Amino acid sequence: MASLVLCGIEKNMKETSMYAFKIALVFTLFLTSCSDKDQATVMEEKTEAHLWKLVTAWPPNLPVNHEVTEEFAKDIELMSNGKLKVKVFNAGELIPGLQVFDAVSQGAVQMGFAASYYWSGKIPASQIFTVVPFGMTEKGSLAWIKFGGGLELWRELYEPFGVIPYPMGSTGVQMGGWFNKKINSMEDIQGLKMRIPGLGGKVIAKAGGNPILLSAAEVYTALERGTIDATEWVGPLHDKRFGLDRIAKYYYYPGWHEPGPQMEMIINQKAWDRLSEPLQKIVEACIAKSGLTLSTKNEAENAKALQQIIDEGRVELVRFPDNVLENLKNLNTQVLEEEAAKDEGFRKVLESYQKFQDLYAPYEAVTNKAYDESRDIKSK
Ligand code: CA
Repeated sequence: MASLVLCGIEKNMKETSMYAFKIALVFTLFLTSCSDKDQATVMEEKTEAHLWKLVTAWPPNLPVNHEVTEEFAKDIELMSNGKLKVKVFNAGELIPGLQVFDAVSQGAVQMGFAASYYWSGKIPASQIFTVVPFGMTEKGSLAWIKFGGGLELWRELYEPFGVIPYPMGSTGVQMGGWFNKKINSMEDIQGLKMRIPGLGGKVIAKAGGNPILLSAAEVYTALERGTIDATEWVGPLHDKRFGLDRIAKYYYYPGWHEPGPQMEMIINQKAWDRLSEPLQKIVEACIAKSGLTLSTKNEAENAKALQQIIDEGRVELVRFPDNVLENLKNLNTQVLEEEAAKDEGFRKVLESYQKFQDLYAPYEAVTNKAYDESRDIKSK
């Protein structure tokens, strides 16, 4: 009886454990199939073909930027075997150029090609990643961005907006601008109406000038009609295509306000996360390639365009006098201090930038600068 009871209990226990085992098995299979399914879904999402929209802040056919963007889209499609297609829309074709950041942030488009100083109204520190007046040229600033802590700060700044930034090439050191009267002293800047955006514009205001903000489409007409007295634009290539050499007498240098602005490619974080790692690497490789193309093509084309301007002899090429540059430099220091006092992000990024600039300066002095000077030595 006892054994029967025990037998019964044992049988019940066996049945119970068998039942429990079956449930556990079904549950495990269910979980396994769920995780397999999730895995499969993830894999499917990561291997599906993506169609991305890339908006630019530039008007269609802007030299160099246009070719680089077209090549960028083609390279990505080819290298990814069609897994990622990028359709390019220039400013005004889908959205206005100055809404690129918001469109990428909101996920209306996946990528944007622009310059970070366009967003300085929203994020004051962003302009430091493009350029700082009297700051470093492309070599130094790109070294800071990539290996001096700049990129980490840039990413940190854009993270709340769900945007990932990458540097993507420079226009090179810009020109000082087009003037119809000579700038011999700071007095000549008094009341000067000049199209000059950003921190450079703030310096001109401090010098007693009147910085004017105009879109690309308005610059030529404004200078031609005398609505403005002067304008900066980019460099010989872009300035000549714009026809500025036909409506101004003096072409000033150097572009103290933009010594090598760095462009940016921005990507929507969620769209980025949906890409497989190989696709992400392709995008990064194409950004690096495009950045190099942009910088070197600008350098080569600017040299050709300047030679044309010189050969045509319509305008006089003039260097800003030392006393003007020195005064502008001092005013710029004040502007940077004021901006840093107004915004904590600006202060933090500027501190990192200037720390790197201080580190870089002695090295630059005995290499790039010293070498440039050595070429100018004339044997007697
Ligand atoms: Ca400019």
